[in-house]
Amino acid sequence: MTHAYDDTNIFAKILRGEIPNDTVLETEHSLAFRDITPKAAVHVLVIPKGAYVTYDHFAREASNAQIADFTRAIAEVCRREGLEEGGYRLISNAGEAGLQEVPHMHVHILGGQALGPLLA
Ligand code: 5GP
Repeated sequence: MTHAYDDTNIFAKILRGEIPNDTVLETEHSLAFRDITPKAAVHVLVIPKGAYVTYDHFAREASNAQIADFTRAIAEVCRREGLEEGGYRLISNAGEAGLQEVPHMHVHILGGQALGPLLA
Protein backbone atom coordinates (compact mmCIF):
# COMPACT_ATOMS: atom_id res chain seq x y z
CA MET A 1 0.00 0.00 0.00
CA THR A 2 1.32 3.46 -0.88
CA HIS A 3 1.58 5.97 1.92
CA ALA A 4 1.89 9.21 -0.04
CA TYR A 5 -0.08 11.68 2.05
CA ASP A 6 -2.45 14.09 0.29
CA ASP A 7 -2.84 17.13 2.52
CA THR A 8 -5.98 18.28 0.70
CA ASN A 9 -8.05 15.58 2.46
CA ILE A 10 -10.92 16.70 4.69
CA PHE A 11 -9.28 15.69 7.98
CA ALA A 12 -6.13 17.64 7.10
CA LYS A 13 -8.41 20.66 6.55
CA ILE A 14 -10.02 20.03 9.95
CA LEU A 15 -6.58 19.88 11.58
CA ARG A 16 -5.61 23.17 9.91
CA GLY A 17 -8.82 24.77 11.18
CA GLU A 18 -10.10 25.35 7.63
CA ILE A 19 -13.40 23.58 8.30
CA PRO A 20 -15.23 23.29 11.61
CA ASN A 21 -15.61 20.13 13.67
CA ASP A 22 -17.42 19.06 16.81
CA THR A 23 -14.41 18.32 19.01
CA VAL A 24 -14.74 15.77 21.80
CA LEU A 25 -11.08 15.71 22.87
CA GLU A 26 -7.84 17.33 21.78
CA THR A 27 -4.46 16.12 23.04
CA GLU A 28 -0.88 16.96 22.09
CA HIS A 29 -0.85 14.51 19.18
CA SER A 30 -4.50 13.59 18.53
CA LEU A 31 -7.92 15.07 17.79
CA ALA A 32 -11.30 13.40 18.40
CA PHE A 33 -14.49 14.79 16.85
CA ARG A 34 -18.00 13.62 16.01
CA ASP A 35 -18.60 11.99 12.64
CA ILE A 36 -20.69 14.25 10.40
CA THR A 37 -22.88 11.27 9.40
CA PRO A 38 -23.16 9.26 12.62
CA LYS A 39 -23.81 5.54 12.17
CA ALA A 40 -24.52 4.97 15.88
CA ALA A 41 -25.76 6.96 18.89
CA VAL A 42 -22.10 7.73 19.60
CA HIS A 43 -19.82 7.97 16.57
CA VAL A 44 -16.52 9.70 17.17
CA LEU A 45 -13.47 9.79 14.87
CA VAL A 46 -10.01 9.92 16.40
CA ILE A 47 -7.13 11.09 14.21
CA PRO A 48 -3.43 11.63 14.82
CA LYS A 49 -2.25 15.18 14.10
CA GLY A 50 0.61 13.81 11.99
CA ALA A 51 0.40 13.08 8.26
CA TYR A 52 -0.41 9.34 8.26
CA VAL A 53 -2.60 7.67 5.66
CA THR A 54 -3.46 4.30 7.21
CA TYR A 55 -3.18 2.42 10.47
CA ASP A 56 -0.11 0.51 9.28
CA HIS A 57 1.55 3.74 8.12
CA PHE A 58 0.93 5.30 11.53
CA ALA A 59 1.99 2.22 13.50
CA ARG A 60 5.23 1.96 11.54
CA GLU A 61 6.30 5.60 11.35
CA ALA A 62 4.80 7.51 14.28
CA SER A 63 6.84 7.98 17.44
CA ASN A 64 6.08 5.99 20.56
CA ALA A 65 4.80 9.21 22.16
CA GLN A 66 2.36 9.78 19.28
CA ILE A 67 1.16 6.17 19.41
CA ALA A 68 0.70 6.25 23.18
CA ASP A 69 -1.15 9.57 22.95
CA PHE A 70 -3.46 8.23 20.24
CA THR A 71 -4.19 4.97 22.05
CA ARG A 72 -5.00 6.80 25.27
CA ALA A 73 -7.07 9.44 23.47
CA ILE A 74 -9.36 6.67 22.21
CA ALA A 75 -9.76 5.28 25.73
CA GLU A 76 -10.42 8.76 27.12
CA VAL A 77 -13.17 9.38 24.55
CA CYS A 78 -14.75 6.04 25.48
CA ARG A 79 -14.67 7.11 29.13
CA ARG A 80 -16.07 10.61 28.49
CA GLU A 81 -18.84 9.26 26.26
CA GLY A 82 -19.82 6.69 28.90
CA LEU A 83 -19.07 3.70 26.67
CA GLU A 84 -16.89 1.62 28.96
CA GLU A 85 -19.69 -0.19 30.76
CA GLY A 86 -21.99 -0.95 27.83
CA GLY A 87 -19.21 -1.59 25.35
CA TYR A 88 -18.14 -0.09 22.05
CA ARG A 89 -16.50 -0.90 18.71
CA LEU A 90 -13.29 0.47 17.16
CA ILE A 91 -12.84 0.38 13.37
CA SER A 92 -10.03 1.64 11.16
CA ASN A 93 -10.78 1.36 7.46
CA ALA A 94 -7.62 1.25 5.33
CA GLY A 95 -7.18 1.54 1.58
CA GLU A 96 -9.34 0.36 -1.24
CA ALA A 97 -10.44 -3.01 0.15
CA GLY A 98 -11.13 -1.36 3.52
CA LEU A 99 -13.35 1.24 1.80
CA GLN A 100 -11.37 4.09 3.34
CA GLU A 101 -12.97 7.36 2.20
CA VAL A 102 -10.69 9.88 3.89
CA PRO A 103 -6.97 9.20 3.39
CA HIS A 104 -5.88 10.42 6.83
CA MET A 105 -5.57 7.63 9.40
CA HIS A 106 -8.55 7.47 11.74
CA VAL A 107 -10.28 5.17 14.16
CA HIS A 108 -14.06 5.16 14.40
CA ILE A 109 -15.48 4.79 17.91
CA LEU A 110 -19.03 3.46 17.78
CA GLY A 111 -21.29 2.88 20.76
CA GLY A 112 -24.15 4.15 22.84
CA GLN A 113 -26.48 1.45 21.51
CA ALA A 114 -26.55 -2.27 20.66
CA LEU A 115 -24.40 -2.30 17.52
CA GLY A 116 -25.21 -5.66 15.94
CA PRO A 117 -23.28 -6.14 12.70
CA LEU A 118 -23.07 -2.36 12.10
CA LEU A 119 -19.85 -1.20 10.44
CA ALA A 120 -18.61 2.33 9.78
P1 5GP B 1 -13.79 6.10 6.26
O1 5GP B 1 -14.70 5.41 5.30
O2 5GP B 1 -12.68 6.85 5.57
O3 5GP B 1 -13.29 5.18 7.34
O4 5GP B 1 -14.71 7.13 7.05
C1 5GP B 1 -14.65 8.52 6.91
C2 5GP B 1 -15.68 9.09 7.83
O5 5GP B 1 -15.53 10.50 7.84
C3 5GP B 1 -17.12 8.81 7.43
O6 5GP B 1 -17.80 8.14 8.48
C4 5GP B 1 -17.72 10.20 7.18
O7 5GP B 1 -19.05 10.33 7.64
C5 5GP B 1 -16.78 11.10 7.95
N1 5GP B 1 -16.65 12.44 7.39
C6 5GP B 1 -16.49 12.76 6.07
N2 5GP B 1 -16.36 14.10 5.94
C7 5GP B 1 -16.46 14.63 7.20
C8 5GP B 1 -16.41 15.96 7.70
O8 5GP B 1 -16.26 16.93 6.96
N3 5GP B 1 -16.54 16.11 9.04
C9 5GP B 1 -16.71 15.05 9.90
N4 5GP B 1 -16.83 15.32 11.19
N5 5GP B 1 -16.76 13.78 9.44
C10 5GP B 1 -16.65 13.57 8.11
